[in-house]
Amino acid sequence: MSNKLHTIALFGGTFDPVHFGHLRMALELRQALDFDEMRLVPSHQPRHRQTPGVSAGQRRQMLALALEGCDELQLDERELERPGPTYTVDTLEELRAELGDQVSISFCMGLDSLLTLPSWHRWEQLLELAHLVVVTRPGWQLPAGGEIAAVLKRHRGTIGDLHTESRGRLVVREQTLLPISATHIRHLIGSGRSPRYLLPAAVLNYIDDNQLYRETAESGDPSDE
Ligand code: ATP
Repeated sequence: MSNKLHTIALFGGTFDPVHFGHLRMALELRQALDFDEMRLVPSHQPRHRQTPGVSAGQRRQMLALALEGCDELQLDERELERPGPTYTVDTLEELRAELGDQVSISFCMGLDSLLTLPSWHRWEQLLELAHLVVVTRPGWQLPAGGEIAAVLKRHRGTIGDLHTESRGRLVVREQTLLPISATHIRHLIGSGRSPRYLLPAAVLNYIDDNQLYRETAESGDPSDE
């Protein structure tokens, strides 16, 4: 193929802690969209938004344990190393400066994140730097009006575009998500129950060894019946 670019995908989150929902999503996206690289990018959290007793270094360590022996997913620590708030646009600018123009960069997000896009710092510039890949649950509707609908109309692209263009396309991908959330895992541990089988055993061992999430600031979990 003549015009095929190297393709790098980013999957951001707090990963507090990382779980099988994140890992399956990242792996399935990499395989389905045929990315050359898929990087998990833990976000820097301002101190007041950190889970009490869990540091950025510990979130990073849990991700590293989850990814051990997995060649298909990588850890990208750049946001943890940067002081101050995490803005996706800064991350993409940094990557562009590092990788140059002839690389395709895709930033992956859930539909819930897409809906909040107009409130993101310098959001209009995101598509000047990268593609956006939006994952929707089967059957979910995309907005029919407003700013998001306008962005979709202007930038909607195909999986093939991600391999021949370096940025500027919005690709929607339907994918089933495992019903797992970090909030629920924190709540289980905080209330003395086991989250086993929701996250890798190495991550759970680390949580146990370091007594993480025993006390959480969260009082309730809507997903907990
Ligand atoms: P919390 O419950 O603390 O909000 P979370 O489990 O939703 O955490 P985040 O770190 O906030 O995880 O999410 C990182 C990314 O992972 C987001 O893009 C989010 O849409 C996605 N994500 C979260 N849970 C799942 C899941 N079960 N399956 C696939 N993707 C998920």
